[in-house]
Amino acid sequence: MKVSATGVGDLVVEDLSVRYGGVQAVSSVGFSVGAGKCVGIIGANGAGKTSTLKALMGLVPRSVGALRLGEHDLTKVKPQDIVRHGIGYVPEGRHVFDGLTVEKNLLLGAYLRSWKGKTQETLREVYEMFPVLGEMQHRLAGALSGGQQQMLAIGRALMSEPKLVLLDEPSMGLSPKLVEEILATLQRLSAAGLGLLLVEQNAKLTFEATESCLVMENGRIAMTGSSADLSHDPLVRQIYLGL
Ligand code: ATP
Repeated sequence: MKVSATGVGDLVVEDLSVRYGGVQAVSSVGFSVGAGKCVGIIGANGAGKTSTLKALMGLVPRSVGALRLGEHDLTKVKPQDIVRHGIGYVPEGRHVFDGLTVEKNLLLGAYLRSWKGKTQETLREVYEMFPVLGEMQHRLAGALSGGQQQMLAIGRALMSEPKLVLLDEPSMGLSPKLVEEILATLQRLSAAGLGLLLVEQNAKLTFEATESCLVMENGRIAMTGSSADLSHDPLVRQIYLGL
């Protein structure tokens, strides 16, 4: 794909909190994702990972000290405009439209792009990146395997021509073989110059796919470090890798 992280800058998040009624899901979290870098967020069920991504997209009420992509202040930007600023989102559980063809699902992803020309060119680029989607372009999304649906969900996010993609548990429910395919997919996106913020319960996949990681516990960042260092940390190995 002709994607490049140049000209977008870093994602900077300061003092981000999410509360659902009496539940404090995310408590004053701060981190950054360098342009074109791959950052992971791992943590147990309920740690606040999904809420963090949704808060970045403006999909849940949140309070935030600072939210910037490069020079753009995103603190008050609406969800559809966050996409237009170059942030793509692949939600947990894929949410492809089963009754629509692969191609129609992909074209829906172009709906929020900032310019309407070149949609067919981007579609061709997505098919180049995911040949299986090209082969199945006229099939209904509901007929695809779980791994193929995950690729479709990622391809759909790419149709908005993002510079940074937020991915929520792309490995969920997939067999070990398909998790390997997801890893290869993430590596391809990264090699294409895209920034990635990957939320996962699968710590092994995350350490392999990313350069640095945050560990979330009870809505807070409990640890940060390079993925290589964290993968050798005895406590992390015991809790998150079961070793
Ligand atoms: P998972 O891996 O299960 O998706 P997570 O780390 O992504 O977990 P969140 O889904 O962000 O965690 O949840 C954080 C906390 O917020 C949990 O205690 C959860 O029960 C709570 N929570 C999430 N969504 C809501 C909601 N819509 N209303 C009330 N509480 C919620």
